[in-house]
Amino acid sequence: MRWQEPKDETLSILLESVRRFGKEEIEPAYGKYEEQGFFPAELVKKMGAMGLFGLMIPEEYGGSGMGTVAASFVARELAYRWPALHLIWTANSSLAAFPIAYAGTKEQKARILPQLASGEILGCYALTEPNSGSDAGSMTMKAEWRPDSLTWSLNGSKIFITNAFHASVAVVFARTSKKSISAFLVESSEPGLRHPGVTVRYIPKRVQKSSDFCEIHCNDVFLPVSALLGKEGKGFAIAMQTLDGGRINIAAQAIGMAMRVFDDAYAYVHVRKQFGRLVWENQKVQFDFAEAYARLIAAWALVIEASERRDAGENITRIASSAKLVATETAWKVASDLETYFGGMAFTQESAWLPRLLDIAPTRVYEGANNIQHMVIAKHLDD
Ligand SMILES: Cc1cc2nc3c(=O)[nH]c(=O)nc-3n(C[C@H](O)[C@H](O)[C@H](O)COP(=O)(O)OP(=O)(O)OC[C@H]3O[C@@H](n4cnc5c(N)ncnc54)[C@H](O)[C@@H]3O)c2cc1C
Repeated sequence: MRWQEPKDETLSILLESVRRFGKEEIEPAYGKYEEQGFFPAELVKKMGAMGLFGLMIPEEYGGSGMGTVAASFVARELAYRWPALHLIWTANSSLAAFPIAYAGTKEQKARILPQLASGEILGCYALTEPNSGSDAGSMTMKAEWRPDSLTWSLNGSKIFITNAFHASVAVVFARTSKKSISAFLVESSEPGLRHPGVTVRYIPKRVQKSSDFCEIHCNDVFLPVSALLGKEGKGFAIAMQTLDGGRINIAAQAIGMAMRVFDDAYAYVHVRKQFGRLVWENQKVQFDFAEAYARLIAAWALVIEASERRDAGENITRIASSAKLVATETAWKVASDLETYFGGMAFTQESAWLPRLLDIAPTRVYEGANNIQHMVIAKHLDD
């Protein structure tokens, strides 16, 4: 086997079924849907039935609680086949489910988590705003307590939100005072956050097209007291804890995507002939692949180290940011270096090689742009 395999037997069995699913169902759907940006509703349903959304959700709330190492291997596999499908999966199972599992009341967890775990509903995580991206603490979405009606009223906009067009629950972060941020649950009985006062605008994008990219506008959205997630004023900490775990998932996604570029390029240089021999039969080419391989497996080892530490309950802020930084930068470098081996074929409409490279680009931006990972790592060097 070229790429590192899990050591755990149960995980190997699960991964085998994900691999089969990937080959038989995800791969053909990628070819049919990604170019047009169609949402893969059927595959999402199947992933739910296979228990893939529940890997990091505790058993008592409908998940399998297999943990982060399992999730990282599954993330790698999904991203290898279809990066946008991975994004849908991680926005649901990590970004939306984690803050509820981490900060929710028993009632919130019991009501929402089993539905997220089974894929019956999708969730999203709404932190970014038009004027507050890297500096998430400067958000302006406001939640005001209305003592007359005993409700919170939410006003403001979020942007670039994955899954919002198909989600039935959103974890939304809003300012509850000049200095503090709180987390709220906005729920709807139908997909697409159909809640009075909420407008969801779909933004077409050029990469990972089949996952939603949305603006959520809230205009006097009234929420019951039970919509508060965690303690008032603790929203920023909840958002950051969520990103710690999410960053490991993005690191795994990036490695899965780069492995795919590697494997495709490796296969191509083994059939393409120039100068009377296979392109592979040049030492320069072999060394380029050897270099790329070594970088990828080193980055993957860091992803697994971060995953194991998270499963052990350690503080993972520094290592999660390091894994995200190293894995996404390595993936981008390796894949863009190897892309040249496809020659002119990479630029034809019939090949997916260029889109597969470009799909790696946003991994260096979402869940904290990589300059921000440098800031996080530097801040925690003495931890
Ligand atoms: C496909 C996709 C899906 C997404 N899904 C979600 C989602 O589900 N939920 C959600 O809340 N958000 C989501 N996002 C938003 C994403 O998290 C933000 O795009 C990201 O945090 C960067 O914010 P920004 O786009 O506003 O860039 P900016 O913050 O404007 O940054 C622009 C550039 O400036 C750099 N920069 C900023 N400040 C500094 C500094 N102090 N020092 C050095 N460099 C700096 C950054 O590194 C970046 O390169 C998604 C984004 C994408 C692309």
